[in-house]
Amino acid sequence: MKYIFVTGGVVSSLGKGLAAASLGTLLERRGLKVIIQKFDPYLNVDPGTMSPFQHGEVYVLDDGAETDLDLGHYERFTSSVLSQLNNLTSGQVYESVIRKERRGDYLGKTVQVIPHVTDQIKERIYQVADQMGGDIIITEIGGTVGDIEGLPFLEAMRQFRNEVGRENVLFIHVTLVPYIKAAQELKTKPTQQSIARLREIGLQPQIVLCRTERPLEYDVREKISMFCNVPVNAVMECRDVDHTIYELPLILHKEGFDRIACEALGLETHEPDMTEWSQFVDHVINPSQEVNIAVVGKYIEMQDAYKSVYEALTHAGASYDCRVRCQRIDAEDIEAFGAAKMLSGVDGLLIPGGFGERGIEGKVAAARYARENQIPYFGLCLGMQIATIEYARNVCGLEGANSTEFDKNSPHPVVCLLEEQKDVTEKGHSMRLGTWVCDLKPGSNAYRLYKSATISERHRHRFEFNEHYRKRLEEGGLVIAGTSPDGSLVEIVEIADHPFYVAVQFHPEFLSKPNAPHPLFAGFIGAALAAASNPTDAELASVG
Ligand code: GLN
Repeated sequence: MKYIFVTGGVVSSLGKGLAAASLGTLLERRGLKVIIQKFDPYLNVDPGTMSPFQHGEVYVLDDGAETDLDLGHYERFTSSVLSQLNNLTSGQVYESVIRKERRGDYLGKTVQVIPHVTDQIKERIYQVADQMGGDIIITEIGGTVGDIEGLPFLEAMRQFRNEVGRENVLFIHVTLVPYIKAAQELKTKPTQQSIARLREIGLQPQIVLCRTERPLEYDVREKISMFCNVPVNAVMECRDVDHTIYELPLILHKEGFDRIACEALGLETHEPDMTEWSQFVDHVINPSQEVNIAVVGKYIEMQDAYKSVYEALTHAGASYDCRVRCQRIDAEDIEAFGAAKMLSGVDGLLIPGGFGERGIEGKVAAARYARENQIPYFGLCLGMQIATIEYARNVCGLEGANSTEFDKNSPHPVVCLLEEQKDVTEKGHSMRLGTWVCDLKPGSNAYRLYKSATISERHRHRFEFNEHYRKRLEEGGLVIAGTSPDGSLVEIVEIADHPFYVAVQFHPEFLSKPNAPHPLFAGFIGAALAAASNPTDAELASVG
């Protein structure tokens, strides 16, 4: 087993996660089995309780782990299926250490960061190696070198290398080489200082990946090489990608990233076959058609809040050789300016997951607009609950219908707390999480798209379609297209005489990959493309 550790220096948001994921793509195509994981130094046990404003999307795994969004990149860029084991936080480390202390495992000893906390960190790597197997484990360390809370992780890495042998461990440091306009120069000092800090604690990176806006000329590479003790061919340029993150593996391959990583680890492999990946990238960059999709949410200004949704739209678009232009619309703007004004000209409407009352009425108005104007509608999790509320109110005449999440006193609580949630008092890791099976109704749109009677999808919710209203809504024309195998939980609702109106209680966006778009996303984009070539009455009216 070989181990790669990826650290970051100078500033955060350098794309360490994407660099790790890209290396995974390349190594996998060299025939190696790769696992990628993330260690996050913050004290939350998991990111499940953090706001998207703090943390971006919470990415959910098959086993229900609520994890960092970088795990989404890892799963999309490689074929690995990750688990709770693959996202360790300081919160989990300290929780385990303190539990052991209380149990008496350290009886007689003073419990300390070194060795007890560092041992706990190393134990996780051994556990992953043991349980998941494979040829290489890539571990990204969250945060930036120099952060106080990251120190135990770096110290653990240092010890780990001595335990498994230097020849089996590779350290990669991702850093910023800023361009200073006044001097018209790329500056290497921050990189030198960041690596000096690493060396102070006994870590010497063998590859330095330099995030830069300008080409990294040879003399700059030489300088970093000289000051940082890294061979010049291991100082690599990582320029901002022009079009899509999926270009990154191709760009880094040209820099020799995977080749040098394999050489450093003594791995003999063949050149990676990037044909399919390049074809996908080509469809993303140079498509022959395009659609406009409105994404109506509440964290619209946050680039990362709906990460997997945007990626899944890109994958589906590429399969149609189509660019998906996302119009990110704040649900509160729909409340202020009206759905017709905000949504005119869109070819499809997607309402992603969400929590809390703010913007809900804007989303309901958007769903109504899509239903009434025959605009393809795709609802994800909260987006399904919104579709249900809208249909109940405006088609079935259930005035005041709502979810008890937003209106505890609604006369028609068509969405209510899951039975199993009623006694839950703690907020951490307590929703209905992870993969659950769903049976599809023959003849439904979902059945047609999945080409299967049974599916498994990832979930993250506390509320559900209220069983008591099922008959009423079905009589009103809402199609229940998917349920839990015992029939008790409604998982998919559809409208039949509509170009595409599918809303699901789960998160299909977590299972979409480049070259393997999720069937529902593909169906949605297909319908949006058809809508784009057939303008609606509302569109014709707005033009004419
Ligand atoms: N807030 C809703 C619930 O808890 C929807 C959750 C979501 O969209 N992930 O059920």
